[in-house]
Amino acid sequence: MSRPEVTDTPELVAAIGNGQRYAIAAALNLLDDRRKKSRQSAARLLANLQNDPQHSRGQLIGITGPPGAGKSTLSAALIRVWRQRDHRVAVLAVDPSSPISGGALLGDRLRIQTSADDDDVFVRSLSNRGQFGGLSAEVWPMSIVMLAAFDIVLIETVGVGQREVDIARLCDTTCYVAQPGSGDSVQFLKAGILEVPHVLVVNKEDMGAVAVRTRSELESALNRTHPDGNWQVPVLSTSAATDKGIDALADVLEKHYQQLVSGGRLSARRRGYQSYWLHKRLQEEFGNAGIERLGGEKALLVKLQAQDMNLYEEYETLRQLL
Ligand code: GDP
Repeated sequence: MSRPEVTDTPELVAAIGNGQRYAIAAALNLLDDRRKKSRQSAARLLANLQNDPQHSRGQLIGITGPPGAGKSTLSAALIRVWRQRDHRVAVLAVDPSSPISGGALLGDRLRIQTSADDDDVFVRSLSNRGQFGGLSAEVWPMSIVMLAAFDIVLIETVGVGQREVDIARLCDTTCYVAQPGSGDSVQFLKAGILEVPHVLVVNKEDMGAVAVRTRSELESALNRTHPDGNWQVPVLSTSAATDKGIDALADVLEKHYQQLVSGGRLSARRRGYQSYWLHKRLQEEFGNAGIERLGGEKALLVKLQAQDMNLYEEYETLRQLL
């Protein structure tokens, strides 16, 4: 089969939908390309992907938590379970540009832990360029591409703070991984620094009493009804090292997604990512003054959320306006 040019969007869209790795990689590179012509192709590509409901069937899951809590080990364990369930999985590993993750990139660590020759697992690392309040600006557009090709798209990121807030605004389901014995997660939750995740996990259950204590602290720190409504936040124990609790975690993640779908809330939620992304991009470029000129944050978000739009086209239109 011949490989279409990157700009050959209808063929590229079809190849992405069929899960062709070269097509997915080419599309992700296209999104990374700042040249004007590439941006126009990228806009068409995203529009084509988003116009076809078949191309957004996947679930977008965000996994976050402090460095060392076991996110990559847990992601690898989850991927094994998902593969047993015949799900195709993509991972977008977002690393901070500072070396706090201890050197090795999340994506590289994950690649080592998952079967490298499995065609149905795709891992892409993205360095955080310090823009977009902590989360790379490419995350949402790249998610659109990956959602077209995979059943599950996992976004993995380090840390607590703005990055973690962004994840919560850009994912269907967010999962926070806590480290046993560290009071940080409890403190952050209580102080409202940590946006309430849909699923809380205390990993390293094999550490025993300290893990049990952290779990009960989290349970009592949390108002268990999620602010999204209609969802009781579960607190789970897992051991990524021994594979304990991983099936149950996969079940809960799926249950949350099913609830979004059956409640008819998924497309509204995804329109929310679009408007959040646009707002953040414009704010970064034109500052708060720019947002004010568009009627202010609240009005802009309401307006953007109300419409089905082509992400990059709308972005260019608003940029021209400013
Ligand atoms: P991340 O920085 O959150 O991605 O954490 P990693 O997945 O790299 O794990 C950090 C360390 O914790 C590594 O040495 C892992 O082997 C270890 N680890 C991960 N999961 C578990 C677990 O369930 N139990 C134990 N005892 N160690 C774990």
